[in-house]
Amino acid sequence: MKAAIFAEYGGPEVIRIAEVETPQPGAGEVRVAVRAASLNHLDLWVRRGLPVETPMPHIGGSDIAGEVDTLGPGVAGVEVGSRVVVNPAFYCGRCDSCRRGDGGSCAKLRILGEHTQGGFAEYAVVPAASLLALPGPVSFAQAAAAALVFLTAWRGLVTRGGLRAGESVLVTGASGGAGTAAVQIARLAGAHVFAVTSGQEKVGRVRELGADVVYDRAQVDFSREVWADTGKRGVDLIFDSSGQATWEANLRALAREGRMVVYGATTGPEAVTNVRLMFWKQIAILGTSMGSRRDFETVMALVFTGKLRPVIDSVLSLERVREAHERLERGEVFGKIVVTP
Ligand code: ZN
Repeated sequence: MKAAIFAEYGGPEVIRIAEVETPQPGAGEVRVAVRAASLNHLDLWVRRGLPVETPMPHIGGSDIAGEVDTLGPGVAGVEVGSRVVVNPAFYCGRCDSCRRGDGGSCAKLRILGEHTQGGFAEYAVVPAASLLALPGPVSFAQAAAAALVFLTAWRGLVTRGGLRAGESVLVTGASGGAGTAAVQIARLAGAHVFAVTSGQEKVGRVRELGADVVYDRAQVDFSREVWADTGKRGVDLIFDSSGQATWEANLRALAREGRMVVYGATTGPEAVTNVRLMFWKQIAILGTSMGSRRDFETVMALVFTGKLRPVIDSVLSLERVREAHERLERGEVFGKIVVTP
């Protein structure tokens, strides 16, 4: 089969299109004919090299929608030819979190396209348990654009963050995949939504997604603006993946008893916490990563009924995966890039 692979870590130039062996599903697995796969920031991290075991040569792509092609031994209740979207979080089924029920903080979590071969190929093998049936009206591209980022944003805002109607939320990085998902989820939850992005065009587009107030971080100090625009109260919840660079600004933008939900560290992992600020305002800092099966089913049901809409920046052919990496790295993307084999 055709796949976008890399055999060494590095910049986008390590990615090439190659003919590789078509994978065979093992026990409990299925092979999916990929119809659409989408790119995440995670793909850039995996390509640069993470301290995790990544199979080499590697096929990236954590978001897959397609048709079931072949069943591995012991798989029941799945029909060949059915339309599916894949939950990119593969749970171990044996750790405390998995045994307690939902696997939302699985100790041995594997992520599709990071710990396993991903979707930038004609076929991919995934656990049968990761499949969710895709209803007719939802396109493969929409489903592939939604899975990882809506799972992440739902768990971050709702399950971990405990977002309630009437609260105020600040979404930083609002033009990214998880950001565009979070703005919509916060809006749907009945929150007052503040958002940060960069550039006038993106400001306009984030507003169209439902954010009430959008700041251009190239123009203003968003932390001060939030403080002023909330009457020196701050926001109840922040959803952030930038880490180091905006850590203190975020803490300052929080209201008393505010929660900061952190799902990444794109500007660096070593943030300095002003502990006085934290205890005085009674702030909670909550980590989140991916989500549980229940999180996935809940948020995808809202995508399937059109209440949440993945933002598709562009659809590129498999041959252009390298270009997709380059564009995401340059920050030229609004929402998600979808790749079709
Ligand atoms: Zn587990």
